[in-house]
Amino acid sequence: MPMDRAGILASFDKLRLWQRDGQRAVHKPLLVLLALGRLWRGESRAFEFSEIEDSLEKLLTQFGPPSAQATPHLPFWHLRTDGIWTLEGPSKILDRPPAASPSKTELRQEHVRGSFSSEVLESLDRDRTLIAALARRIVESHFPESLQQEVLTAVGMEGLTDASPGVQTTVQARRDPQFRERVLLAYEQRCCVCGHDLRLGGQVVGLEAAHIKWFQAGGPDIEPNGLAMCSLHHKLFDLGVFTIAATEFVFVVSQHVAGGGDAHQRMLSYHGAGLVGPQSATYKPSAEYVAWHRDQVFREPGRELK
Ligand SMILES: [Zn+2]
Repeated sequence: MPMDRAGILASFDKLRLWQRDGQRAVHKPLLVLLALGRLWRGESRAFEFSEIEDSLEKLLTQFGPPSAQATPHLPFWHLRTDGIWTLEGPSKILDRPPAASPSKTELRQEHVRGSFSSEVLESLDRDRTLIAALARRIVESHFPESLQQEVLTAVGMEGLTDASPGVQTTVQARRDPQFRERVLLAYEQRCCVCGHDLRLGGQVVGLEAAHIKWFQAGGPDIEPNGLAMCSLHHKLFDLGVFTIAATEFVFVVSQHVAGGGDAHQRMLSYHGAGLVGPQSATYKPSAEYVAWHRDQVFREPGRELK
């Protein structure tokens, strides 16, 4: 029996939750996005683990917390307990208790296949706009605005926009509209990394208010959780290219950053440099939020500070 729209949205809602205080739980959401992307493009609805293993591992590496790498088999197995996912394969694997997850090799060798449950598939067939709505809800729940489009592109849904049929933004609406203005004022309208303060007709352009602890993880809309950053540094910060050493308020760049040209050199030149600080000490980044960023977003290890 296909479910109605509300039923489908509700059955996926569990995936929008964050586990424990601010710990990022992106395994299942990223697998679901990958599977939704396949439906969106009209590809086969059931697939072997080995078909998506590399893509899922790449997604986890790029958009997950550092601890999520190399574990694409976990959501493939555990999503079954959420009631929206089924597996096909030999019973010696499928009959195991939920906690006894098979290894990557077992899933590969036994050709275990996964797909959304038939109820879910029937519902998505009847109302194709649900695919877009689900993808948007999941992305908005787990990723900051600066990365949402990037994640959708990575799962092959780059055509999906806020204007796509069936898409309603849910998360953004709850944000404090004053946050950007207050943070930009605190940092005197310039990027705290590079000092960018370009104006066009008196209006500052390409400057944003970044959350240190993501809004999606419960980070509050207050100045000590905000940094004024140009669009580029905002995105790099949200991807974990660099973080802040809380004790000295200097930038720490990830050892994973590479590149041969100017962009790489420029990024490295900020390593160990102090933040272009706020105009009052009361706006300084709070150690609690900085620690969250280092733990949940930053690509450890960081380069050494001299
Ligand atoms: Zn900048």
